[in-house]
Amino acid sequence: MKVYQTPDEIRSQRWAKPTQSWGLVPTMGSLHEGHLNLVRTARSQNDKVGVSIFINPAQFNNPEDLEKYPRDLKKDLTLLEKEKVDLVWTPTPEIVYPAGFQTHVEVDEITRPLEGAYRLGHFKGVTTVVAKLFNVFQPTKAYFGQKDAQQLFVIERMVKDLNFNLEIVRCPILREPDGLAMSSRNVRLSSAARQQAVCLNQALLSAKDAVKNGETDSEKIKTVISQMIHLNAAAKIDYISIAELDTLNEVKKVRGSVLISLAVYFDDVRLIDNILLGL
Ligand code: AMP
Repeated sequence: MKVYQTPDEIRSQRWAKPTQSWGLVPTMGSLHEGHLNLVRTARSQNDKVGVSIFINPAQFNNPEDLEKYPRDLKKDLTLLEKEKVDLVWTPTPEIVYPAGFQTHVEVDEITRPLEGAYRLGHFKGVTTVVAKLFNVFQPTKAYFGQKDAQQLFVIERMVKDLNFNLEIVRCPILREPDGLAMSSRNVRLSSAARQQAVCLNQALLSAKDAVKNGETDSEKIKTVISQMIHLNAAAKIDYISIAELDTLNEVKKVRGSVLISLAVYFDDVRLIDNILLGL
């Protein structure tokens, strides 16, 4: 496994044998099974697999969140080596954003609600860095988790709108045995908050049951979710959303496919989770 920092080094590896297909898994490190599942999927579909590990300052709207974001490069590289990854890009912020950097990629409507509304500037940071990753690696396919559903839709939109020559592969959410969605931020939860955080998945499953039993009123479904979450003292809800898939606009009635998503603080740790219904 080769580990490099500069775009030139990555490019020369990527184009050493131009006919080989490359799968790229972009990450911010502190890898868990959710990330490794993307890597394994990429491994099964490509000749070569590249992973990027970069905590992108441009997508953090909260400096404290950036500062406290977990980091463990040594452990990450050991895990990736075991997965037979070929190439890892670990650039510094100065390499990604050298002096004079002033070009950004922005996706409009679909970035405005949900995470975009609560984390101003977040998606501009995401799309700019992912566009750079795609230009540096020029992968055949790139792998993203449905855990960050809005991010996945935004990137699919960007790839379509800007004619990036690659395929985006959607990968399912991996969960802990008790249902909590795996996340690098989970290690920051206190043990009490860790227990309480299980309510996110439970609330989403209750919403799914309510829809299955014929409930279509979004407000009533959101009430089911918020009541379950509010049983937990440490929880503070940012948003609960029931939105149509194409636009991520809120729906009044649940008909067809919808994304139910939420963002909830447990103390100072912000967790997101979601469920797709009707697909
Ligand atoms: P991150 O390192 O948090 O930026 O995540 C890198 C990629 O891994 C993104 O495409 C995420 O959606 C994906 N990912 C993170 N957690 C999970 C999970 N629990 N299940 C599936 N994919 C995940």
